[in-house]
Amino acid sequence: MAREREEEYESRGGEGRSEGKGSRGKPRRARPPTACRFCTDRVGDVDYKSVDSLRKLMSIQAKLFSRKRSGVCSAHQHSLKMAVKRARYLALIPYC
Ligand SMILES: [Zn+2]
Repeated sequence: MAREREEEYESRGGEGRSEGKGSRGKPRRARPPTACRFCTDRVGDVDYKSVDSLRKLMSIQAKLFSRKRSGVCSAHQHSLKMAVKRARYLALIPYC
């Protein structure tokens, strides 16, 4: 499969890398990094009572998305983590 793809790439006028490693490297980022949604809304600390906004940044298994996935800055990711922990303690969000 991969070999066919390489041959196709070279036949289309690729740079002709014969090693075959170039196409299997780290995947390029599809879209540029977005601005932090909390910074754009000028939110200081994330509210643990706003369950809907917390659930948007969590998976179905109630796990928090990474910064890379959600696009939240590091300060707000920390604030978000603490908010999720508080909301879990108050049984607003399941632990799972
Ligand atoms: Zn932020």
